[in-house]
Amino acid sequence: MAHPTTTKLEDAKSLILKYASQVTKDVETIPIMQAHGRIVSEDIFSEINLPTQDNAAVDGFAVFSEQMAKSYFTAEIIGMARAGHPFEGEVKFGQAIRIYTGAVVPKGPDVVIMHEDCIDKGDQVIFKKKLKPGTNIRSCGENLAKGECVVQKGQKITPSDMGQIAAAGFSKVNVFRLLKVVIYSTGDEVMEMGSKIKGGQIHDSNRPILSGLLSSENVDVIDGGIIPDNEQALINAYNEGIKKADVIISSGGASDGIEDHTQKALSAIGAKNLFWRLAMKPGRPMSVSQKKEKIVFCLPGNPVAAFVCFKLLIAPVMDVLSGRKPREPMTFRIKAGFQHKKQPGRTEYLRAVIQIDNAGHQHILLHGRKGAGVISSLTGAHGLVEIPFESKGVELGDILNFIPFQEQVL
Ligand code: AMP
Ligand code: MG
Repeated sequence: MAHPTTTKLEDAKSLILKYASQVTKDVETIPIMQAHGRIVSEDIFSEINLPTQDNAAVDGFAVFSEQMAKSYFTAEIIGMARAGHPFEGEVKFGQAIRIYTGAVVPKGPDVVIMHEDCIDKGDQVIFKKKLKPGTNIRSCGENLAKGECVVQKGQKITPSDMGQIAAAGFSKVNVFRLLKVVIYSTGDEVMEMGSKIKGGQIHDSNRPILSGLLSSENVDVIDGGIIPDNEQALINAYNEGIKKADVIISSGGASDGIEDHTQKALSAIGAKNLFWRLAMKPGRPMSVSQKKEKIVFCLPGNPVAAFVCFKLLIAPVMDVLSGRKPREPMTFRIKAGFQHKKQPGRTEYLRAVIQIDNAGHQHILLHGRKGAGVISSLTGAHGLVEIPFESKGVELGDILNFIPFQEQVL
């Protein structure tokens, strides 16, 4: 029997992205404190200069730099400015004020000299150093100018964006609604977590894995439970999922064995198949279908394969459906510290760790036992190493792409 055709990961991705478009067009206004991970629905421009006025970057004295022409210059201390408590008077040539970090620098002085560089005599101060104008002053608008774009439409809000949006004068932000995703596990042998199992049965580990992966995606997850290996049951589940959610993810039964019914069920409900089978290991049996604007991902049942397919294919598609630019995972080019044989004609993603040798050089090592179903190869791994499509294997010292897992980066 001829081998069925497989689609390269890059082609599969562009194919889905050609058909996928944003489905979360509704906008909601939410407090910034709850905005982490949400997708901004419009450009946000700063309403103010940040900082609004010149202010001190250190504790010390605000003074005129010109007076520092000679070292050991003495100035009269005429007042104090603290953060939130500006000095209201006028500072004249020959005078200085005590100033603390964050306090507004009053009109006149153009440097702030640190305490450590002064001799404090109580009502007079002697400067031990000369400073250039502007030293230790955070100038008005240096962080953000009034009217400058703080975040762009389609950007996913990070903790630093949350700080910057608040600093720019806002307490709320307009974002697209959350994507709704329903997850199903399928298989007669797959049993609920924590249940007693008999020979041949296994506990469902794909719903927990997917639920974890989806929690970093900031989506509404609907747990659809476990569906038996039965075409009608799958038809009902997919129909239900399409009614309730924007994205449907099932795992298991994606191949063409006698107990694999997902593809028949999807064609029975009139879903259009975008591709079936990836030129990738693990993850070969994966398929993607579309019904109206809803997307159905059928993942392989093997947990590692389901995990890898989610990271590489589902996550970027969910970006587009949520109104975000599809992400390109950050890869690092690192030397292989392992050897590996491989058939050309598919890309392999192996679980890996980064090790630093005695000379301080980084190497990629394979992690855990092999196999698409061996979850222990994922737990404790630092990321995935990519073995290219055409490669016949890896030799020590080959430079490969390493993609770190989220938990392993800052
Ligand atoms: P399948 O893709 O249905 O052929 O399943 C491939 C392998 O993954 C089989 O050994 C299944 O028992 C296993 N499997 C399928 N679904 C799950 C699941 N939800 N949790 C753990 N293993 C699974
Ligand atoms: Mg099965």
